[in-house]
Amino acid sequence: MAKPAAKVRPEYRNYIGGEWIVPQSGNYIENRNPADTRELIGSFPASNSSDVDRAVQVAAEAFQRWRKVPAPRRAEILFKAGEILIQRKEEFARDMTREMGKVLAEARGDVQEAIDMTYFIAGEGRRLHGFTTKAELPNKYAMCTREPIGVCALITPWNFPMAIPSWKIVPALVCGNAVVIKPAEDTPLSTYNLVSALTDAGIPPGVLNIVAGRGEEVGKALVEHPKVRLVSFTGSTEVGRIVGQSCAATDKICSLEMGGKNAIMIMEDADLDLALEGVLWGGFGTTGQRCTAASRVIVHRKVAKKFTSMLTDRAKRLRLGPGLNEKTDVGPVINQDAVEKTLEYIEIGRREDKAKMNCGGHRVEKGDLKYGYFIEPAVFSEVEPQMRIAQEEIFGPVVSVIDCRDLDHAIEIVNGVKYGLSASIYTRDTNRAFRAMEEVQTGIFYVNASTIGAEVHLPFGGTKSTGNGHREGGTQVLDIFSEWKAVYVDYSGKLQRAQID
Ligand code: NAD
Repeated sequence: MAKPAAKVRPEYRNYIGGEWIVPQSGNYIENRNPADTRELIGSFPASNSSDVDRAVQVAAEAFQRWRKVPAPRRAEILFKAGEILIQRKEEFARDMTREMGKVLAEARGDVQEAIDMTYFIAGEGRRLHGFTTKAELPNKYAMCTREPIGVCALITPWNFPMAIPSWKIVPALVCGNAVVIKPAEDTPLSTYNLVSALTDAGIPPGVLNIVAGRGEEVGKALVEHPKVRLVSFTGSTEVGRIVGQSCAATDKICSLEMGGKNAIMIMEDADLDLALEGVLWGGFGTTGQRCTAASRVIVHRKVAKKFTSMLTDRAKRLRLGPGLNEKTDVGPVINQDAVEKTLEYIEIGRREDKAKMNCGGHRVEKGDLKYGYFIEPAVFSEVEPQMRIAQEEIFGPVVSVIDCRDLDHAIEIVNGVKYGLSASIYTRDTNRAFRAMEEVQTGIFYVNASTIGAEVHLPFGGTKSTGNGHREGGTQVLDIFSEWKAVYVDYSGKLQRAQID
C-alpha cells in the first residue's frame, strides 16, 4: 500500500488482507474534532461480525506464512516502519491532535512513543531469547523456546491512539503472530496512520488488519471468534471484565490493561514548587485523561493549605484551547459523554461528598470553545479518602487534595482504592522514598516525579483491578505475545523416566 488509499475517499474502509474494503453494513461512524465539533475528520466503518470473520480468516491464513519468516527478517520490516513514523511524525501528530484533542506537544510524544516501541521491539527480533537448562537425567538435553500464538485481537482506547496500538501490534508481529486490531471509535485515524506506516514498510497482506467499529459489535465479535487465540485489551475496568469473562469461556489468552486512580504523595519536606509542576502535569496533562493521571494528591497536613493555594492559583491560570494552538495548556475532553461524566463527578464532589471546590469545574460556553468539549480544570480540597471523587476514576480534569498525617497514613490512602497503576512521592528523605516504594501497591512508582512518564523499555501495567497480571512494555511484553515450548532431547538411546529413574 502506498498512501492509505482510504484517505483520498470521503469514507475510510477496513484494511483486510492487504485491501481497503467497505464495511458489510455500509454504515459509518463520524470522527469529529473534540476541540471544534464543526470539523469532520472522516467517517470510519461501523463494521459488524461478518467483517470481523473475514479479517480473522485472512489473518489465520497469513499467520501460517508469517510465523515461518525468521524473526530477524520480521524485525527488519519493523525497523523500516520506525523510520517511516519518524518521517511522518509531524503529520501524524497533527492528525492526532485534531481527532483526540491533546495538545500538539503531547501528540508528538504519543507518536514518539510508537517510534520508541517500534525500535525497541524490533531489536528483540535478533534476541527473542529462550534458555537451556540441565535435565535431571543423564544424556538428556533441556531447553525452552518462544513460539508465536496465532491470531491476536487487539482492542484499544482513544486516549493514546497511536502509542497503545503500537505497544500491542509491534510485539505481536515480532513474535510471529497475525493481528486484527479494532481501534477506539473516537480516534481511529491515528491507528490507521500507524498501520499505514507498518504496511508501507512491508508487513505482508493479511498479517495486519484493521476492522473499525463499535466495541459492543466489533470488539465483542473479535473476542468471541473461535480462531482468535489471544485478546489484548486496554480500556476501562468495566469493559475489561466483560472481555476477560468472554475469553475464559473460549480458553483464549487474555491480557487486560484497565483503569487507574493514581496518587501523588507530598511530604512536608518536599520541594513544593517541583511538586506543583508534577501535580499540574499529572492532573491536567492530556486533560486528566491518562490511565496514569494523578487525580489524587495526598499532602502532609503541615503543608496542605499552602500547597492547595499554590495549586489553585496555577490551575486557574491554565489556558484552555485547541491543542493545535501552541499556547494551549489544556485541550478538550474527548466527547459529550466525557463532559457529562466529568460534570456529574464535580456535582458529586460538591453535593454528595461535600468537598471544598477551589476552582474550575464548569463547561466553557463562550466564544469558539463552545463548539468543543472544554471543562475548566477543577481542584477539590478537604477531600476524604473514601469520598467517591477520591475512589472512582473520573478521567477528566479534576484533582482531589487529601490531607495526611504522615507517610504511613499517605500510603494507606494510596492503597485504599481498587486500582493499582501508578503512584509517586515528593520528599527529600531517601528513607521515606524507599519505604513508600516498597509499600505502595502499584505497578509503577516514581520518586520526585509525577505519576506519568513511563518509558517503553520498562514493564507497564498495574495491580488489583488495573490489570490481570500481565505487563506491556519492556521485554516482559513478549510473555504476552509468545508461548513457551519446553523441549527435551534424550540421546541416551534408552527409555529414561523422569521422577522415577
Ligand atoms: P472503554 O473500555 O470504553 O473502551 C476500550 C475499547 O474497548 C474501545 O475500543 C471500545 O470500543 C472497546 N469495547 C467496548 N465495549 C466492548 C465489548 N463489549 N467488547 C469488546 N470491546 C469493547 O475505554 P475508553 O473509554 O476507550 O478508555 C478509557 C479507559 O481506558 C480508562 O479507564 C483508562 O484508565 C483506561 N486505560 C488504561 C490504560 C492502561 O494501560 N492501564 C491505558 C489507557 C487507558
